[in-house]
Amino acid sequence: MPTTLLHTPGEMSAITRGWRDAHETSALVPTMGALHRGHLALVEAARKISQRVVVSIFVNPLQFGPREDFDQYPRDIEADLDLLNQQGLTDVAFVPDKSQMYPDGHSKTEVLVSSMASVLCGQARPTHFAGVTTVVAKLLNLVQPDFAVFGQKDAQQLAIVKRMVRDLNFPVEIVGVPTVREPSGLALSSRNRYLSAQQKSQAACIYQILSQTHQRFLQGERNSERLEEQAWTQLSEVGLHPEYVSIVDRDSLVPVAGEIRRPATLAVACPVGPARLIDNILLDTGS
Ligand code: AMP
Repeated sequence: MPTTLLHTPGEMSAITRGWRDAHETSALVPTMGALHRGHLALVEAARKISQRVVVSIFVNPLQFGPREDFDQYPRDIEADLDLLNQQGLTDVAFVPDKSQMYPDGHSKTEVLVSSMASVLCGQARPTHFAGVTTVVAKLLNLVQPDFAVFGQKDAQQLAIVKRMVRDLNFPVEIVGVPTVREPSGLALSSRNRYLSAQQKSQAACIYQILSQTHQRFLQGERNSERLEEQAWTQLSEVGLHPEYVSIVDRDSLVPVAGEIRRPATLAVACPVGPARLIDNILLDTGS
């Protein structure tokens, strides 16, 4: 099935209106492009649960801080479309430009999931999640999908979007998909393109250390601070300087103090060379 390329919000909304009229379900996969196998896994998951699939590709200026990599962020629409066409599971690639998404150059309205946006990555990127939720709200309104699919790789984003949808009664189900990794364990990311081979192998230590922490958890260590501390020490030992290593409640993102009793996420952000990488692992308590 060839992927139809659409540029304007009007065309996008018209197509999905037709699908709804024909009682066909649709799923939206929001991305910033520079697609890789992680994105394709989201498309595959979308296809399994829904008859129609829309992939949006938009490098959203609202979610980049003034000193961040908006200008350098990799953009390769042709390669992205080739990948989607090869995979053959996407009905529409929606690729608006900035002036169509923000005709005045900005959005006066901001959607902010307040306390969840200021923890973890929100500390170093204070405006990031408001930019994410604002653009996701716009995309949900434009496409009006039955499902929207996000990667567990961005665990904070997933939790925040779920909360936004719940708080504002968006009629959509948010679906999370497990992180796709390189054989080394390194989570696939568009920003891995910034890394040299040596930096990539250093970056792979992040997941190895998360996995070892997970093992300790499975072997019975339930103290949040001890697990965080051990992971932090191990990251330092391989020359990494994490921004945070934090065990948080999976839904609310509130830090877990003391014993882990509910489903939690161990999340890490760590600069490696020119990239700021994030990764996480789920700590399941069985409750
Ligand atoms: P991005 O293009 O980086 O904004 O990511 C778009 C979507 O793809 C988000 O929901 C990400 O969480 C998801 N994603 C990015 N990398 C991966 C990965 N390695 N595995 C699974 N999903 C991913």
